[in-house]
Amino acid sequence: MENSKYEVVIGLEIHAQISIQTKMFCSCSSDSFNKEPNLNVCPVCMGFPGQLPVINKEAVRKGLIAALALHCEIPGFSKFDRKNYFYPDLPKGFQISQYDQPVSQMGWLDIDVAGTMKKIHITRLHLEDDAGKLSHIENGTLCDYNRSGIALMEIVSEPELRSSAEAGAYARAMQTILRYVGSSDADMEKGKMRFDASVSLRLKGEAKLNPRAEIKNLNSFRSLESAIDYEIERQAALYEEGKGLEGNITVGWSDELQKTYFLRDKEGADDYRYFPEPDLPPLIVTPDFIAELQKEVPELPTDKQARYRNDWKISEAESLLLTSDLSLAQYFEEIVSKTEDPKKAASFVGTILMSKLKRDVLSIQESKVSADMIAKLINLINKGKLSMNSAKAEVFDVMYEQGTDPEVIIKEKGLEVVSDAGQLEEICKKVLADNPQSVVDYKAGKDKAYFFLVGQVMKATKGQANADMVNEILKKIIA
Ligand code: ZN
Ligand code: MN
Repeated sequence: MENSKYEVVIGLEIHAQISIQTKMFCSCSSDSFNKEPNLNVCPVCMGFPGQLPVINKEAVRKGLIAALALHCEIPGFSKFDRKNYFYPDLPKGFQISQYDQPVSQMGWLDIDVAGTMKKIHITRLHLEDDAGKLSHIENGTLCDYNRSGIALMEIVSEPELRSSAEAGAYARAMQTILRYVGSSDADMEKGKMRFDASVSLRLKGEAKLNPRAEIKNLNSFRSLESAIDYEIERQAALYEEGKGLEGNITVGWSDELQKTYFLRDKEGADDYRYFPEPDLPPLIVTPDFIAELQKEVPELPTDKQARYRNDWKISEAESLLLTSDLSLAQYFEEIVSKTEDPKKAASFVGTILMSKLKRDVLSIQESKVSADMIAKLINLINKGKLSMNSAKAEVFDVMYEQGTDPEVIIKEKGLEVVSDAGQLEEICKKVLADNPQSVVDYKAGKDKAYFFLVGQVMKATKGQANADMVNEILKKIIA
């Protein structure tokens, strides 16, 4: 769409499962993935008449921590509402959600689109419960209510995204933040994060919003981006035919066909017959509670990236990589605190360790190399006891494969740099005595001859001599 006459307008709704043990309004287990159907159910989440829901405080807490990380305002008063549907996976006949007074609103998220930062505003983050799951089989439909009642955050963006790439960057940044604050695993393979993308086009320069297509239930970054791109092309073709979208519609996405397909005309708020949930009290959040939660919000990835770049002179790419996961960032920062050498820490973690972990499909928590070991390794290098070459070529692999302490490896392999001045002086003297012509050449101004002499000392020490000391001693003797 780069050179197109149309501007793309995208808004994203994200549903993320809150990381808690139980459901939003009952004490059933929220661990529904790959469980026998209808195992985690009770009269409340099965929608039996007369059952009373109870708000899960932990769900509120984790939802609000995410809201704070997204810079949302938290009004002291909010309430739950019934959103009426008639679907077989929703036995209550309504979803408990939040309509006009959500628990948080008006926040923002910084995203990095190919190196350029953009602020995307967030309309609201509210709490609600999930529906069950339907499986359509040959002669009927099966209902599994394990998911029914699971606690969700719904996070709605302003329609400020302008391409599938921006939508992808926003979705990835959201996943990173939700994981950072521990509010959601945001694991899409387990259905713990899903996207609904509203896509519309308008002529460049126009301010009005045209009718949009809402693509429902996208469950991977790739589907999100492909579905948006497909919908952009489809709508552009419609406008070219002089038609465009006549009204808001809801569409689905087929990964198999790589196409969107019509589901229904888009519902408006009126269609849901929202009304206040009579079985739940209002949700009152005190300033003290918010202040407590604020303390639990860790430094955010974009702030860390800026600090790494500005204070520690870490490259943009390495900063992005090292902050992509909170455990990884903490691991890296522990090494920096023990070595005061952020550059070497970034190189060992970001380049060497991460490429091995990636190859072996392991997380940083599964690494046999602890932050402490890498810190030791760097300190040995910086004290001149180990050469960078040996560290990379001979020590790190053993640390990685066996989790062995670097000092033990160095002793076993005899890699310790020779820093004994007396011993080095003996070796240097012998090298000079054995190569008188090189000494003459060097004194005549031939640098090459000097490098040859250094090379001979290195050869005599199997490359383990402290290079700085060798220089010093050689020059002193020759002089
Ligand atoms: Zn239940
Ligand atoms: Mn929702």
